[in-house]
Amino acid sequence: MRFSEIYGNDALKRRLVKMVDENRLSHAVLFVEQEGMGAVAFAIALSQYLNCKNRSDGDSCGQCSSCLRHQKLTYPDLHFSFPVNSSAKLSDQEKKRPVSGFFLREWNELLISNPYFGAQELNDALGIENKSGVISVNEAREISSTLSLQPYESDYKIMVIWQADKMNAEAANKLLKLLEEPPAGTLFLLVTQNVEKMLPTVLSRCQIIRLQPEDRGDMANLLEGRFGLDKETAMNVATLAGGSVGRAISEMESSGSDSQNMSLLQGLMDAALAKSLADVLDIADSLAALGKDRQRQWCVYAEGFIRKMFVSAKGLPQIAFADSEEKEYISMLVPRIKESFYDRSAAALDAAIRMIESNVSAKLVFADLGNRFYLYI
Ligand SMILES: [Zn+2]
Repeated sequence: MRFSEIYGNDALKRRLVKMVDENRLSHAVLFVEQEGMGAVAFAIALSQYLNCKNRSDGDSCGQCSSCLRHQKLTYPDLHFSFPVNSSAKLSDQEKKRPVSGFFLREWNELLISNPYFGAQELNDALGIENKSGVISVNEAREISSTLSLQPYESDYKIMVIWQADKMNAEAANKLLKLLEEPPAGTLFLLVTQNVEKMLPTVLSRCQIIRLQPEDRGDMANLLEGRFGLDKETAMNVATLAGGSVGRAISEMESSGSDSQNMSLLQGLMDAALAKSLADVLDIADSLAALGKDRQRQWCVYAEGFIRKMFVSAKGLPQIAFADSEEKEYISMLVPRIKESFYDRSAAALDAAIRMIESNVSAKLVFADLGNRFYLYI
């Protein structure tokens, strides 16, 4: 991937290029982003630039043998590590100690098709279902043994660790030694969407690079070009996506495709409207029984749906991107809902996401959320 193929954060691209050109790249870089910003694409573009035989104009050439293999993610000195768990895709032996090396095909396919993917998309691709991915001490051992070998052809061995905040303490302690005294030529490119969960000891050893949310106008231009939206619609989608290209694209591509999310939300809204607290709590129980990443994904879906209701209520259904099933439901709901519901329920969903991230009991989180929907609607 060339820098020019990644959308946005142009100042950051120039900074990375300059660091390579002036030989000031630290041996451990931590990219801090919000989900959907595509920091992993920056990590790959950086590795490609570093190893390109024919750099020009602040970018890799895209044509030399190193660039071509970076594009297919087959460059032998570029390695990936990411949170995993056991999956039906693994053999019984592999299930006992899952590591990311068992999932490279799934990882590569996902990364090539959508470098803006989030945790749930990865979990789905790996088939780990309701379990959360973890970077375990077994994974840390794999990383250590990969980095102990000589590079094949690069001057560097590059280790991209996606969601480095998912390292458990044992893994972090093992990696800390490597971060402190890495074998010569090691380059760590860490990515996190939860920098507050990174251990301070790890953070202090990394050069921190923050991706910025996209400018609304720039993103609208991208959406116009890529999806053929008119100017006004593109601007509205850019606003709704809150500066994240990944979120805008998934909003456009998947609008309403997740029928389980839809049916749980519909159940909750219907029960709240019918003033049946028992039914509300039944749905809350179903939500609490999902895995943590699925719970988060449902909250994000519900926020998106409430935005669609809000823009429809404001008389702008053309920018709601609701599919026909959603549209019908929204037109039935909107006249029955209090004006204050949109803001209050969105805030409650934000709070639920934060509590899920902080490992508050899912039963409590969703009972509280259900109660709030019941009261606010
Ligand atoms: Zn090249």
